[in-house]
Amino acid sequence: MIPDEALECYRKAGRIVAHLRKLVPELVREDVKLLDICEKVESTILQLGGRPAFPCNIDVNEIAAHYTSPSGDSSRVPNGSIVKVDFGAHVDGFIADSAVSVSLSPRLSPLAWTAEEALRKALEIVRPGVRISEVGALIQATIERRGFKPIRNLTGHLIERYAVHTGEAIPNVGNMAGGKLKIGQICALEPFVTSRSARGEVRDEDRSYIFRFSKRKGSDTEEGKRLIAYIEKEFKTLPFARRWLAKLDWLEKADATFAKLIESKCVSGYPILVERSGEPVAQAEHTVLITEDGCENLTA
Ligand code: MN
Ligand code: MN
Repeated sequence: MIPDEALECYRKAGRIVAHLRKLVPELVREDVKLLDICEKVESTILQLGGRPAFPCNIDVNEIAAHYTSPSGDSSRVPNGSIVKVDFGAHVDGFIADSAVSVSLSPRLSPLAWTAEEALRKALEIVRPGVRISEVGALIQATIERRGFKPIRNLTGHLIERYAVHTGEAIPNVGNMAGGKLKIGQICALEPFVTSRSARGEVRDEDRSYIFRFSKRKGSDTEEGKRLIAYIEKEFKTLPFARRWLAKLDWLEKADATFAKLIESKCVSGYPILVERSGEPVAQAEHTVLITEDGCENLTA
């Protein structure tokens, strides 16, 4: 079970994220810079008394996950696109994670509605004792009934303090074995929807703008040692943006030092994930607490 003080932190993080869920659709407009949206989301989390649990992800069209703006990013929201904004706040390490899809094309809107519908249906059956595979099966059935396809290798997840993804994955398809949901778990559900003709899976791109701390040992320069110590202290094991390090004025050889931390595996990257056949993707996500008789939606 979760202590009351921890639960209060989860609820506070959830309220911050819920506030952003209302703000984000106003921010995502054609021709707006992706970097401006990332910074607005992250600064709002700080203003409301939380910290970003990971960089704001802005994933356009066939990009399904893990894009955040690099420093100086000039890319903008394309006309007629579908944009997933995935953001999380933490309070003292207790994380709430949520995502919304904004469709700027009538043709793509049904993808976004279907992701929301699959999430809503899944939340209706979430309670202690429910098989995780049942949740996946319901998500899949809801998506297929609308004539679309779930992304089979992207999943929801359990959350613990300072750990965004932990324990068993919550699949978006029904064919995986798995355990049962338990009271007191913090659970992020996140259906991903693509077109029926798509492959329905993501592949890694060879670009990463989001990283996490892996180990301290292995950096051989003074600047590298200082940077990895800063990363460990500042972000612990939570994902961070390469962009967030740009403000460190003591970094003299920032690019070279960071490249060495990657090479020595002190940090590891999250590759950008794209739908394999290049089809557009929608996503919806909430974080819930599993309660005695159902769940409490922390991010609604
Ligand atoms: Mn998320
Ligand atoms: Mn998530």
